[in-house]
Amino acid sequence: MRAVAKFWHLEDGKVHCDLCPVGCDLKEGQVGSCGVRVNVGGRLITFTFGTVTSAAIDPVEKKPLFHFYPGHLTLTIATPGCNLHCRGCQNWQISQVPKGAVFENSAFEETYIDPSLIVEKALESGCKSISYSYSDPTIFAEYMIEVAKLAKERGLFNIMVTAGYINRDPLEEINRYMDAYSIDLKFFSDEAYRKYSKGRLQPVLENIEYLFSTGKWIELTTLIVPRFLTEKQIRGIARWIRESLAPWVPWHLSRFFPHYRALELPPTPEEDLFRAYTIGKEEGLEHVFIGNLWGNDYESTYCPSCGEILIRRRGFHVEGFYIKEGRCPSCSKEVKGFF
Ligand code: SF4
Repeated sequence: MRAVAKFWHLEDGKVHCDLCPVGCDLKEGQVGSCGVRVNVGGRLITFTFGTVTSAAIDPVEKKPLFHFYPGHLTLTIATPGCNLHCRGCQNWQISQVPKGAVFENSAFEETYIDPSLIVEKALESGCKSISYSYSDPTIFAEYMIEVAKLAKERGLFNIMVTAGYINRDPLEEINRYMDAYSIDLKFFSDEAYRKYSKGRLQPVLENIEYLFSTGKWIELTTLIVPRFLTEKQIRGIARWIRESLAPWVPWHLSRFFPHYRALELPPTPEEDLFRAYTIGKEEGLEHVFIGNLWGNDYESTYCPSCGEILIRRRGFHVEGFYIKEGRCPSCSKEVKGFF
């Protein structure tokens, strides 16, 4: 559904969108790079307010969040569009909206789910949280805020799964309602960000640092993309997490499979995932996980001090939870997270 967007201003007769670092300047009728925000009559209009195209009930481990109320169910929603354009996007049918599609496809006008219905469905289904994901929820900030406000009032948690490519003012507003974030830190090179995602590194780093400083729960994910993500970058990310955030911030290393415009790239070789894991541990990170590789030894949580298993997982399922009052049952080391 169409709605007047929140984050924009007029400049030299154009609408300047203030939502993300792309910073589109839009003439009358022009569509932003995300494909879903348009200058209509001198106002910025979002065409996807409540245009929920995907909804599913997932274990929170699928976001991935491993230390935020493990094993709970989360209702996950998305609308079309994205402000990044990753070559290997696995949700490209949702995220990559062709320019002009919002005018041609009546579904953008006709599809609308009221925020209260999302919250009711989450409660009815026994979910503990609502997650905003699949496309980048930055692009449906206004709708996310409305759903998240209601969800909070009804005792649900809110989780943003994002690439972190957003401007500070909207992020501050969103952060008032969020409880946890799963954030992609894709590369540690501006060039790789530009070539693979049409984004930039610095805003992402600054946003992660900002969110961490506000005390919200954060877990980071890096997709190990062959040829684009070098070993030097992997070490750079691990070191940055330890030095700029904390060694206990969970870091998920995810196996890449070719999709969309990256079909020429191979799936991540298994040995590259294990190498990245080793680098993370060498750099002093306490909770490094390997994902998208069924049944590997690094999808459980181990005590970084004595090696005791703390949360046993198989895929997205929690098979055993052994933390006692936030501590390792064997050596009493504190385990950070919400349990
Ligand atoms: S949200 Fe869309 S319209 Fe706004 S600056 Fe980013 S890409 Fe451009």
